[in-house]
Amino acid sequence: MSKHQNSSDLNPDLSKRLPVQIDPVRLAVAKQQLHGELEISRLTRLGELLSSTEGKLNVKLDFDVDLNKVHYVSGTIDAELSLCCQRCLHAMQWPLHVDVSLAFIAHEHQADELLAEYEPYLLQTTPIVLSDLIEDEILLALPQVPLHDEAECKPAVPLKEFDPAETGKQNEQDGQGQSASERKNPFDVLTSIKSDSKE
Ligand SMILES: [Zn+2]
Repeated sequence: MSKHQNSSDLNPDLSKRLPVQIDPVRLAVAKQQLHGELEISRLTRLGELLSSTEGKLNVKLDFDVDLNKVHYVSGTIDAELSLCCQRCLHAMQWPLHVDVSLAFIAHEHQADELLAEYEPYLLQTTPIVLSDLIEDEILLALPQVPLHDEAECKPAVPLKEFDPAETGKQNEQDGQGQSASERKNPFDVLTSIKSDSKE
């Protein structure tokens, strides 16, 4: 007997493991629930868009058949993703939450008959790779151009230093363009308030 044959049974992490391949129709008929975790690093297409692939996805998928005999899955995908800010190119924590509602169809024309709450998922072959389905859902939910809030964004090079010519012009203006008389006197505001109240 191999020593490590039963080690997987003893590993509590494995109870949260999701199957690699699934037959959605069978799962729906069996009203199966797949609740578990998936390492973000397993999703390679998503990984290319992230500044770090550490961490796990929390996946809850409930398969069932509805009153119209549609095989469907509903559930959620949650994770803390590390996106790449497109302004400063630094990491940007982004809480991912996807509501999944997919109806499995065998032919494209069936999509027209579905209730609005479902997104059609065309099943061409079974089984399918579960992580592909999950990854597709996540990619659709990502912001197209992730950006920090301006207060949190720290571009490596301050905008002024990008163009030395521009900086030179700025200095010129400060020196002679704007004379003291052109600058707004902060007390002008007070003066106008005073004259208003007199009337
Ligand atoms: Zn940024």
